Formats: sequence, C-alpha cells, structure tokens
Amino acid sequence: MRNPSPVIDPKRLRRRMVNELKVRGITDPAVLQAMVEVPRHLFVQEAWRTQAYEDASLPIGCNQTISQPFIVALMSQELETSPGMRILEVGTGSGYQAAILAALGCTVFTIERLRELYQSTSMLLRQLGIRNIHMQRRDGTLGLPEAAPFDRIIVTAGGPEIPRPLLEQLDTGGILLIPVGDKPRLQRLVRIRKTFQGMLKEDLGPVVFVDLIGDHGWQATGCNVHNKELS
Ligand code: SAH
Repeated sequence: MRNPSPVIDPKRLRRRMVNELKVRGITDPAVLQAMVEVPRHLFVQEAWRTQAYEDASLPIGCNQTISQPFIVALMSQELETSPGMRILEVGTGSGYQAAILAALGCTVFTIERLRELYQSTSMLLRQLGIRNIHMQRRDGTLGLPEAAPFDRIIVTAGGPEIPRPLLEQLDTGGILLIPVGDKPRLQRLVRIRKTFQGMLKEDLGPVVFVDLIGDHGWQATGCNVHNKELS
C-alpha cells in the first residue's frame, strides 16, 4: 500500500509564502500579518488548492483570476491603510483581496459585475464569518455613490483610463490604486493621491490584470457577453 499523502499545514505554507514576500520587498508588518492569517486556499477552486501558496495567479472561474500573493501584498502596502478606513474595491473576484483589507481592520465595500462570482464569493465570505465586507453586484466603474466618500479605492482589474466617478468618490487625502493601460491585460499600476491642491499621480510599475469592463472601462466583447453578464 502506498503511504497516505502528507498532511500539509496551510498555516506553515502561509508563513513560508510571507517569508518570500519579505524577500521580494514587502515590509509593512500589518500586511504581512494579514497574509499569514487569511486562508488563501479557501479562495481558490478545489482543483488549485495545492498551489494556493505559490506566488502565482490562479483561475477562479468565469475567465477571471485571483491575483498572485505578491501583487495582493504590494497593492495592500501601497494603499497605505490604517484600521477603521472605508475602502472601495472594484473587482471582488474570489474575495481574497477584500479579505486581506478586512484583516487590516478596514471596512470594505466591494463590487463584482459577474453574477456567478458574486454568488459564490458572497457565500464564501458568509461561511468564513467575515463581517466587515459589504458586497454589491453592479458596474464598479461607476463606484458606489451611496457609500462615498472613501478613504481608499482599489481597482483589481485593468481599464483604459481612470474612471471619473471613482476620482469623485475619493475623499480628500485619499488614495486610489488602479491598473491602467491602453491594451487589455497589460497595464501600469497607477496611484493617485487626492490633495487640496489637486491629484498627484505616480507610476508604480507594470502589472497584468484581467479587463475592467463597464461604462468607464473596456466594452464587453465575445465571451464576456453572455448570461453571466450584468443584466
Ligand atoms: N480582487 C480579486 C481579483 C479578481 S479579478 C481577487 O482577490 O480575487 C478582477 C475581477 O474584476 C473579476 O472578477 C471581474 O469580473 C471583475 N470586474 C471587471 N470589471 C468590473 C466592473 N466594472 N465592476 C465590477 N467588477 C468588475
């Protein structure tokens, strides 16, 4: 008889993942602690669980992906959060980035446009008992005016421009992080600081995200237009 496969301790794998994040330049202790706490393997499909703690993006269904841990950690760090902040996330996907922000003590308003992901992720967040995440299904490029202004806005899909409604819904002193690029799936990560003097823009380097689709994003085409679409 073959030996049963060894039981892998997810917490040990997460510690190893976090050590690699430190080597790659993630220094914010609160972000590293959140990455130790949140069970990433529960946010990926069962078939991908053994790879959940490798530094790779993975499919989450509907042609979408959960970002690689390094990018989630980097964006969380560059967002400069502190506990109690109100954050808008556009592109809930698996819910992992939202769970990291919630573990940082923030109140997260997160928007997903695809029905299937909205349903599966809201069920998962309920099962995990995470309370400080409020999820909505709609076009996130229009923001969430009824809950604005936000201290921070994070967009986890890439569009051709910075959606104006998001700039309007950002509080003064706030930070907006968004992948922007004139070609789909090839963007620069842009950070905007809204100050009394105006908007300060920084380029944080190249990133690869799935498309931001909506009124202020790319138009839905091909396999994006079907019954999973926002109706
Ligand atoms: N933050 C996610 C990453 C998901 S991938 C995670 O941690 O897993 C990006 C997601 O953005 C996809 O689920 C896609 O459906 C969604 N999306 C794309 N355009 C959107 C829009 N206009 N409004 C809301 N969600 C959008």
